[in-house]
Amino acid sequence: MSKITMQTPVVEMDGDEMTRILWAEIKKELLEPFVELNTEYYDLGLPHRDETEDRVTVEAAEAIKKWKVGVKCATITPNAQRVEEYHLKKQWKSPNGTIRSILDGTVFRTPILTERIKPYIPTWTKPITVARHGYADIYRDTEMRVEGPGTAELLFTGADGAVRRETVYEFEGPGVLQGCYNKDSSIENFARSCFEYALSEKRDLWFSAKDTIMKQYDGLFKASFERLYEAEYRPRFEAAGITYFYTLIDDAVARLVRSNGGMVWALKNYDGDVMSDMISTAFGSLAMMTSVLVNAEGCYEYEAAHGTVTRHYYRHLKGERTSTNPVATIYAWTGALGKRGELDGNAALCRFAKALEQAVLDAIAGGVVTGDLAALMDPKPVPVDTAAFLAAVRERVRG
Ligand code: NAP
Ligand code: MG
Repeated sequence: MSKITMQTPVVEMDGDEMTRILWAEIKKELLEPFVELNTEYYDLGLPHRDETEDRVTVEAAEAIKKWKVGVKCATITPNAQRVEEYHLKKQWKSPNGTIRSILDGTVFRTPILTERIKPYIPTWTKPITVARHGYADIYRDTEMRVEGPGTAELLFTGADGAVRRETVYEFEGPGVLQGCYNKDSSIENFARSCFEYALSEKRDLWFSAKDTIMKQYDGLFKASFERLYEAEYRPRFEAAGITYFYTLIDDAVARLVRSNGGMVWALKNYDGDVMSDMISTAFGSLAMMTSVLVNAEGCYEYEAAHGTVTRHYYRHLKGERTSTNPVATIYAWTGALGKRGELDGNAALCRFAKALEQAVLDAIAGGVVTGDLAALMDPKPVPVDTAAFLAAVRERVRG
């Protein structure tokens, strides 16, 4: 059988720990046998980020701007313990944060539904997509440990030299401070990409934040969505039979639990980070969720929403065979290859991406699952290890 060729590369970003192992296995077992992979490779594994003083992360993001499509493996965001473990020069920032701040886009996360796994909330019959603003907020914050009494101020010096200052707090003792920002342009791009996504999927759009407390900050988000909706999107939404509405985030959580799902739920960066884990877990597992970052220039970055599965990696290092779920990482690849195919008019590549996703679903429907999914099924199948799962998927790929 001749392999499918690719005219244009996708940007491949390798990562850390167990997901780095999965990455290589997925390529070997499920991709390379079928596709002449054309990738521009960036090693975002922590040792190489440290070696390059994190330049590799910036270069990878620039490459996504050039080639439009990237696929990323999970990576370690170092904390103090990782600095010791990997003897790092510095506690490098989150690679996802760095890439997102360069691409300035929205992350759409959607659970992968299967017949065999019932959501924890039985009324959720349709998937809920979390649309997470992928730019700034606390992921680009400036923090300060306050050692003792003093005045904390918010100071802004305009380009014309004009100064504005507000007192944040008069510290009577030690404490802590945080400064965050966002930009009109990024917020507007966020709103626009959410409206476009909801229209393309023909699903209702909710946006929620906390503008009763953050009157200026969250107020700007709310106003931006409203302005754009009234100025451009209302007629298109009405024609498509879908709705947009804003509600406070606490109200949204309550409504969501009582809903049947199906909506696209737009959230600020941190809210989206937290809520996407809640949504994915409620639908089954973090490893059963797709995640794509889309920006206004039409760049797409696909990844798994879960981390590097450290606990499994340590078992792997001891020589154990682990039952780590590769589905989200496989879908990161199928998302990227499918999008590459769509942008390049490469129908064979699109078909392959769909066929591989179907093979994953067929394997699961046939009861071949990793431990995390077996635990969610009734009756519970005997879980297989990762290698056996990949082999079962490979058997089911039909071109
Ligand atoms: P994690 O890697 O998502 O794993 C947390 C737990 O969830 C695992 O121990 C495992 O539970 C379960 N799990 C997650 N993915 C799984 C999979 N594919 N198959 C089976 N079980 C899975 O989160 P973490 O342990 O908090 O973080 C580990 C590292 O990942 C950290 O260094 C963090 O910085 C990084 N991280 C990276 C990203 C990213 O690059 N997108 C996102 C989040 C975290 P059991 O052990 O109970 O089986
Ligand atoms: Mg998270």
